[in-house]
Formats: sequence, structure tokens, C-alpha cells
Amino acid sequence: MHDIAIVGGGVLGCASALFMARGGMKVVLVERGGLCMEASGRNAGTLTLMYARRPLLQFVIPGKEMWEDTRSWLGADVGHRFAPGLEVAFTQAEAELLEREMKLRAEIGAPIEVIGGNRAREIEPGLSEKVIMAGYCAVDGFAGSNLIGGPFRAALLAAGVTLMEARPVVGVDRRAGGGFDVRVGPGRDGGEAVRVPARRILLAANMWVRPMLDWFGLRDLPIKGRANQVIVTERMRPAIRSILRVVSQISLKQTNNGTFLIGSGAGYPWFDDPDQAVIELKPDNVVNKLAIASHTVPALRDTRVLRTWHGWEGYTPDNLPLVGPIPGVPDAYVMACMRSGWTTGPYAGKLMAQTLMGQTPDQALFIPEFDPARLFEMEFGPNYTLKRKERAA
Ligand SMILES: Cc1cc2nc3c(=O)[nH]c(=O)nc-3n(C[C@H](O)[C@H](O)[C@H](O)COP(=O)(O)OP(=O)(O)OC[C@H]3O[C@@H](n4cnc5c(N)ncnc54)[C@H](O)[C@@H]3O)c2cc1C
Repeated sequence: MHDIAIVGGGVLGCASALFMARGGMKVVLVERGGLCMEASGRNAGTLTLMYARRPLLQFVIPGKEMWEDTRSWLGADVGHRFAPGLEVAFTQAEAELLEREMKLRAEIGAPIEVIGGNRAREIEPGLSEKVIMAGYCAVDGFAGSNLIGGPFRAALLAAGVTLMEARPVVGVDRRAGGGFDVRVGPGRDGGEAVRVPARRILLAANMWVRPMLDWFGLRDLPIKGRANQVIVTERMRPAIRSILRVVSQISLKQTNNGTFLIGSGAGYPWFDDPDQAVIELKPDNVVNKLAIASHTVPALRDTRVLRTWHGWEGYTPDNLPLVGPIPGVPDAYVMACMRSGWTTGPYAGKLMAQTLMGQTPDQALFIPEFDPARLFEMEFGPNYTLKRKERAA
């Protein structure tokens, strides 16, 4: 019997498993693909204090610090580098929005200031003359999401985690004497379906927690999935050194090998059912994002696109994550739909481990803003009771 089964091997599931195992728990981690091959291996790698949702900021700051020193907790370097962060505005309306948002962040401790266009161009000479204002954080950064799966696998195995990769969880049953039987489907490697007993369970499967919560009778929760896209250019001479964002539109950075990464979720449809989610590349959408990119960094005008990729993100109606006990199901927990989840991931996993091990966490993770129960208030109101009664019957 494992102390806990963790479903989903993205950065949140892997970090939780790692810190729980190091704390002495017997952990099994089940991942239907490979470790960190969905959002956690496809994201744009930005570590920034500037665009995380405000209730997440208190987790983003220490999360970012953990990425700066992965050797100490992961035992490997994953390409972290510091870079100045600039979120830029071209119009008066964008500038007002930016100023309001950045001041709020600065008030809660983020080292962010609002600067004019000229100062922004001093910091980043590659920036367009048309930028009129910017939010500036001197200590933003970047880490390579494509480098994380291997080090996590090595660290998890060294910590004694039972790893089941390429094995989907297909259901969960409660055991008569307490705990759960996690039903693991057959593997692509020919492995047979098995039942894995565990005292507790943590769902860390991003937008896929929607059908998983169904297994506990919590149906039709308002969780949606949407594709987020990264566009990769050919290699270029060094043109910028900062991490850029154009207010609410795209993020932009030049990687160590000279390619530019342009990230954005804009223009892609929402999905209720993650199993029906398909991504269709829309050339117009790519062209539009490139136009914004070259408007921001003129050196990009003549560059060519090498490739694009997408990853899935789970969203709740208030854009805050689901973190905490699954309502009405003792010993079951969820941690999913985390905006800026790359940045917060290691720290959130550490806090989850401290919480479930009964230690005093460095700071509370199960806060009302993240409470999964709030989703019922939002969409279902009194129907929640009805659904729960139906389930009991
Ligand atoms: C393109 C893109 C760009 C992004 N850019 C940034 C950024 O620059 N900075 C930032 O901070 N954040 C960024 N994000 C967000 C960040 O990547 C995510 O918030 C974070 O990776 C979420 O981690 P996770 O572990 O919750 O989810 P995931 O990494 O999606 O992991 C969930 C895992 O659950 C597994 N799973 C699903 N169903 C099952 C099942 N039935 N059985 C077993 N396993 C299952 C999946 O295979 C998957 O591996 C970006 C996201 C995307 C997609």
C-alpha cells in the first residue's frame, strides 16, 4: 500500500512526489505519457513576476527562486538564466492598464517599477521606438522546459518514488477499509491493467482533472482547456537580452541558441472535454502574432518561422487554480489549472508535500481563493447539494 498515489507527471505532480518521497512517504506517480511532456515540457519557460495572477504572486516569487538554484533540489542544471523582464505598452489604453496592474504587484512586494519608453529602450536597445511605457523587473528569467523531464525522472527514482510512465489512470475506487484503488490501464509497452492501492490520492493532471473529478461524482465542473502556442523562429544574431511581453498579447524572448520564442494562447478555441480537444494550426493567427512580435522588436521583420508547437492549459472561471481537498472525499486532493504553473511548480509541489506530511508549510497552500469547493458556488449553487445527494443515493 502506497501512502499516496499522484496522478499526472507534469511539474506539479513531479515536484509534489519528489518532496513527499524525500520526506519519507511511499509514493507512486502515474503518468499516461512521459514526465513533463505536456504543458510542463512545452511551455515558454518564462519565470516572471509580471504576469502571474495576483493571488499567485506569493507563490511565484519563491517558485522563481527555486528555478534559480535547481542544482540544490533537483541535482541538475536546466538552463536557467536571469534576464530583465519588460512588459510593454504601445497605446494609451495599454499604458493605463499596465500601470494599474504593475502598481498593484509592486504594492504586494514584487520588485517591479513602471518606466517610460526611453528608459525601456536603454534597458533593451532592441525594442521598438513606438513603445511608450513598460513594466520593468530586473530579476525575471528563463529556464528550459525541454530539459526538465530527465532530471525529474532521475531525482524521483533516487528518492524511491514508484514511477509508472506511459500508463493512464482510468478510474479510482474507494477501498472498503479506507484509501483508494487506482485503476491503471494497460501500457503502450504491453503492461497489463493493474489496481494500485494507496491511502491518499492527489490529482495533478491539469485540464484532465475535469473527467477525473467525475470519478468522485463531481460532474461537469466548469473547467475548460485551451491550447497555448509557441512559435519558434530561425536562429538569429543576438537581438534582445530581455524577456518581453506585449500587454495581454504575446511573450517574446531570444533563447541561448539564437531562436526567438513567441508565446500566446490568443485565438484558439476552448474545450470542455479534454479528450475531444484538437489543435488546428491557424496560419492567420501565426502571422498576426509575428506582426506583433516584429512591431515590438524590429530586428524580427525579416526572420522566418521554423516551427510551432502547442500545449494544453486548464482554466477555471476565475483563472485561479484548484488546490486543496476534493470536496466530500476524504484523503483525496487536487492541484491543477495553475496559471504560471511552470514558475510556481516546484514551490507548489514542496508546499503540497509539507501540507500532506502534516508539517507546517512555509506558507499556506490550501487557501480559500484556490479551494476546489468554490467551483460549485460559481456554477452550481444549490445544485451542488442535489448532485451530492444524487451521488449518495
Ligand atoms: C505553450 C505554453 C506556454 C506556457 N508558458 C509559460 C511560461 O512561460 N511560464 C509559466 O510560468 N507557465 C507557462 N505555461 C503554463 C505552465 O506550463 C503550466 O501551468 C504547468 O506546466 C502546469 O503543470 P501541471 O503539472 O499542472 O500540468 P501538465 O504539465 O499538463 O501535466 C499534467 C500531466 O497529467 C497527465 N495526465 C493526464 N491524464 C492522465 C491520466 N488519465 N493518467 C495519468 N496521467 C494523466 C498528462 O499526460 C500530463 O503529463 C505555459 C503553458 C503552455 C501550454
